[in-house]
Amino acid sequence: MVYELIDSYNKQKLSAASKHRNGAGIETGVDFNTTLLLFRPKKFGKDYQKKTALETVMAGATWPKVRINQSYPDVSALCDRCGLHEETDLHVFWHCPCNDSVDDNVRDSDKYKDRAIADAGNVPCLWLRGILPIKFTHLSKEDIPNRRAFIPKGEMPQLGQWPSGTYYGDGSGGINTRFPTIRRCGCSLASCINGKLDLGVRYALPGETRTVPRAELSALASLVEISQEGSTLLYIGDDKPVCNLFHKGSEFCKKTSNAYMCYNPI
Ligand SMILES: [Zn+2]
Repeated sequence: MVYELIDSYNKQKLSAASKHRNGAGIETGVDFNTTLLLFRPKKFGKDYQKKTALETVMAGATWPKVRINQSYPDVSALCDRCGLHEETDLHVFWHCPCNDSVDDNVRDSDKYKDRAIADAGNVPCLWLRGILPIKFTHLSKEDIPNRRAFIPKGEMPQLGQWPSGTYYGDGSGGINTRFPTIRRCGCSLASCINGKLDLGVRYALPGETRTVPRAELSALASLVEISQEGSTLLYIGDDKPVCNLFHKGSEFCKKTSNAYMCYNPI
C-alpha cells in the first residue's frame, strides 16, 4: 500500500516535473530504482564532492555558459574549456573534446556519445540529467513467462518420474540482476554421476516476481514436483538465506510472499 501511495503521488508530480529544465521524458514514469543505483556507496565511497555534483546534474541545477548567457548576456556562451563551441548541456556532458582528458569514467562513457547526441533532444532527462524513464526498463506482461518451460540437457525422465538421488539446484538473475525491472531469472537442476552431468534441466522463472531467492526456491520446488512419489532427495543449493528460510517452515514463509509461492508444493 505504501508503494501504491508513492506511485500515485509520483504520477501527479511527474507531469509537472517533466516541464522543468531538461525534464522531457519523465512524464510517463521514472525507474527510480535503477536511477538511484548511481548513488550507491560503492560508486562514490566518501567522495561527497562527486556525489553532490551528480545530485546537481540530476536536479537540472547545472549552469552551462549558454544558460548563464540567457540571464546575463554580457557573459560569453562559448565553452571555457575548448573555446570552440557554445557551452550547452549537451556540449558539457557529451560533445566537448576536452572531456577526453577528464578521467577514465568519462572516457568509458564515449561509447554512448553518438546515441546521446542523437537522442538528447527527445529524452533530455536521460542523457542530460541521468534520470532513466521507466519505458526503457519496463517488461510487458506478454514478455514474462507464465509457466515453466523445461529445457532438458540430454535425455530427461518423464515429469514425476525423476529418481531418488542427489540434485544440485540454482537460481540466477542473469546479466541484468542488478536492475529489478528488467531482471529475468533462470532456474536449473542437475544430477551427476562420477562428476559428469547425468540429468539436467533449466527454465525461465515464471511470474512477475522475478527475484533470485524465488528462483532458488523454485528450483527446489520443481525437483519435488518432478520426482517419483516416495523418492529420497538430497538437494544441494548455494543460497544460505534461502536454506535458512526453508527450514523455518511454511508458516514463517507465508510472511515472505516470494518464498511462499514456491514453498507451497514442498
Ligand atoms: Zn568545449
